[in-house]
Amino acid sequence: MFDKDRFVDDRSLSLSIKNKGLNYGLGCIEGIRAFWNKEQKQLFVFRLDDHFKRFHGSGKSLYIPIPYSIDQLSEITRQLLLINQVTQDVYIRPLCFKGANTLRPDLNDPLNHLAIYLDLTEYEPKPSINVCVSSWTRVGSNMIPPQTKSTAGYLNSGLAINEAMLNGYDGALFLTREGNVSEGATNNLFIVRGYEVVTPPVSDDILPGITRNTVAQIVYRELGLSMREQSITRVELYEADEVFLTGTAIGIKPVVEIDRRMIGNGKIGPITQKIQKAYDQIVRGEMSSYISYYTSVY
Ligand code: PMP
Repeated sequence: MFDKDRFVDDRSLSLSIKNKGLNYGLGCIEGIRAFWNKEQKQLFVFRLDDHFKRFHGSGKSLYIPIPYSIDQLSEITRQLLLINQVTQDVYIRPLCFKGANTLRPDLNDPLNHLAIYLDLTEYEPKPSINVCVSSWTRVGSNMIPPQTKSTAGYLNSGLAINEAMLNGYDGALFLTREGNVSEGATNNLFIVRGYEVVTPPVSDDILPGITRNTVAQIVYRELGLSMREQSITRVELYEADEVFLTGTAIGIKPVVEIDRRMIGNGKIGPITQKIQKAYDQIVRGEMSSYISYYTSVY
């Protein structure tokens, strides 16, 4: 379906410094992961269709229509993984951006470039993190819509991450303009209170995360509990029994300290631990009841 010569070494690419997507952040992205299963010698891409559906949604809302169908994008991704003979966990980044080299930051030009690249960096993640509530507010849904993965929106995340790091925290949480808890700089947020698992609704200026949705399935199917979407106040954060963040890159990440206040007993909580264990098995293709979530590469 696609010419082999469309798969190129990224060092051979060039882009005009006049490119409008680059100058104004007029683009949208996705973040997908594939997981290597050693026993089955198989690479499983996790919820590929759902990621590309969200990609198309972002493109539609932002006037950056993605120039390929969901099926075509899935096939390009599979070919990219095959050509690179990937046999390890890998992060996949689709990017679509405005192609014109004109000054006006309008979104009318029909030329939208698509690129998909791989990031094979392996890092040793911390088992749990301490975070702060950022002095930066989450961009509102009527500003740069956080329900889309717009490239411009990541400046909001970047400011919060930098401030947090400069102040000695591992990450940052955003509040909305109304003061409700929104989400992490690049992750969704959950709190656990007794047997209640609560997460902010999409209307509290969050990205509807695919990991967040997977957690809803785990909470219901594996723990026999239900996930509640409900606005969360800052104090409810501090007083929660457990807090965790979710995202494609980090999976399920326990938060044990917020604004120098210990969460629960300062250790990874039992419900977080159960969700984390189920999630790690699901993404690696070890739970057959979630078969519809996988795309096998080999
Ligand atoms: N919120 C933001 C702002 C993000 O950048 C991400 C990462 N894509 C998430 C939430 C988590 O979304 P997902 O679980 O789909 O990776």
